[in-house]
Amino acid sequence: MMLKLFNTLTRQLEEFVPLEDGKVRMYICGPTVWNFAHIGNFRTFIFGDVLRRYLKYKGYSLTHVFNLTDIDDRIINESAARNISIDEFTAPYITYFWEDFDALGNERPEVTPRATEHIAEMIDIIAKLIENGHAYESDGSIYYRIAAFPEYGKLSKISFEGNIAGGSDRVDTDKYEKEDARDFALWKLVGEGENPGWDAPFGRGRPGWHIECSAMSMKYLGETFDLHAGGMDLQFPHHENEIAQSEGATGKLFSKYWVHSEFLKIDDVTMSKSKGNFFTFRDLREQGYSPLAIRYLLLSVPYRKQLNFTFEGLKAAESTTERLRNFSALVREAAPVQSNGDAETSARACVAQALEKFETAMDDDLNTAAALAAIHDMVREVNTILAANGLSEEDKAAVLDAVEKFDSVLGIFGKESGELLDEAVEALIAERQDARRHRNFARSDEIRDELAAKGIILEDTKDGMRWRRK
Ligand code: AMP
Ligand code: ZN
Repeated sequence: MMLKLFNTLTRQLEEFVPLEDGKVRMYICGPTVWNFAHIGNFRTFIFGDVLRRYLKYKGYSLTHVFNLTDIDDRIINESAARNISIDEFTAPYITYFWEDFDALGNERPEVTPRATEHIAEMIDIIAKLIENGHAYESDGSIYYRIAAFPEYGKLSKISFEGNIAGGSDRVDTDKYEKEDARDFALWKLVGEGENPGWDAPFGRGRPGWHIECSAMSMKYLGETFDLHAGGMDLQFPHHENEIAQSEGATGKLFSKYWVHSEFLKIDDVTMSKSKGNFFTFRDLREQGYSPLAIRYLLLSVPYRKQLNFTFEGLKAAESTTERLRNFSALVREAAPVQSNGDAETSARACVAQALEKFETAMDDDLNTAAALAAIHDMVREVNTILAANGLSEEDKAAVLDAVEKFDSVLGIFGKESGELLDEAVEALIAERQDARRHRNFARSDEIRDELAAKGIILEDTKDGMRWRRK
């Protein structure tokens, strides 16, 4: 079966056929590391992770590039206000970002470049654009000449009749003289002694936001690659401008498929830093919600539908993930029964059906809601069979194999991240207490080390042994 994805470029559901057999080269716009990412950002990144994992599930080998934007106006302003370098300013946010990203069960992409480490590549593209007439200098800054790229607008389908300011809030549109209000900055003049600034053949300056992604994607994926993704708001101007820059420089198709995920809202308003109506992953962790439940909630609605965040929804996700976790533990620990004819056939048939439905759903533009429904149906049916007749060794293997397959894509059963479940931690602590009572210190130390390796910290308090995650 073929995976179909909705391609923003054609506004159609298309069969996904990579340029090279068996291999996918993809780019997803990553975070701007000026603050903590909020769970809206993570909805988009988890969507990217599910897309990534499903492509692997389909047997493709991947080169997946996911950038960190570590230079933009906000970063420059904040670091200047604190009188520190942009590297010093972004370093802790980069650390926090990966901590949250990992804790939410996402796989690290193959390449995670930072904008500040790719200034030379940006300069090369800008030089090419100046040379072939797609860019021009004005007052020391360099602008993209949209009039020289007739296909401008092909992604966002925005009509550019009349004068529409083409820049985003990250690109200063008014300050300098431009030929056309839509033209956007590729390189912004930075005076001698002013920082941050980089020397270029066309003068000292700093890059605009859009050129970062053209440079980092083409460096690692080539001038033409398979898929480019990001949140809905990046369609315009960010991705439109990436296309103009890249195709303007190379004369070749930039990305074959463009995939955009919808927003996370809260009280029906888009969650955003500027509106202040956001929760970070850490906010929700502090309130006691588990990473698995947060992940489950964020991926439970298909990526092209908006999702409204509520605490009721998160609580429901908490009990759903607990049910999934208990189910796999129950099957794993169930004492196998002798092969039992019909009942056995029905367990395996229901597993086969669930896998088929799961794949059909995911092939249909990553319909995670239908994929989850297939999993829940299987869980319910296998639970019934288990209670009535038990499972044979083969049944157990088939069910656990299916769970592993589902989880290789969704990561919601709780073992993918290597995180110990609460129950497992409690059990080990009890075993350790017992070992100590029996003066079996070797075992007690072994358990302490095992817990430490999994990031569990033990504390002896006057109320007894307490534990927490690092
Ligand atoms: P930024 O760190 O601002 O560059 O944004 C990182 C990613 O998060 C981009 O792909 C945005 O489209 C995405 N994003 C921002 N707000 C939301 C939201 N409320 N829901 C889903 N994605 C979002
Ligand atoms: Zn980008």
